[in-house]
Amino acid sequence: MGILAGLRRALGGGSGRGESDSYWVYAQCKRCGEPLRARVDLRNEPSQADDGETWIVRKGLIGDGERRCFQTVEVTLQFDGSKQQILDSEVAGGKLITEDEYLALKQAPDTDSSGS
Ligand SMILES: [Zn+2]
Repeated sequence: MGILAGLRRALGGGSGRGESDSYWVYAQCKRCGEPLRARVDLRNEPSQADDGETWIVRKGLIGDGERRCFQTVEVTLQFDGSKQQILDSEVAGGKLITEDEYLALKQAPDTDSSGS
């Protein structure tokens, strides 16, 4: 355990995955159903909300073009004062999904599969 913690520190200021200063947001495109995700850097990306207590993050999630759909799914998240909890969320062009749903959708076979 001590080794891991030290290693993380050595790798540079907690920029690693799974740290509490990053948050993964998962969404699904309304048009093509493609699962999308983006990492939120909780240290740099949130901006203070009008109430002076909570934090707002806006992310634009774009697919890799595999399905010839380049729609941006706009996600707006509101975090509490400690940036640990989502208080509210808004999505345009798609919907929020869980990590499990994301992984399931990623594994789902494509309808027009270009076999490998
Ligand atoms: Zn799409």
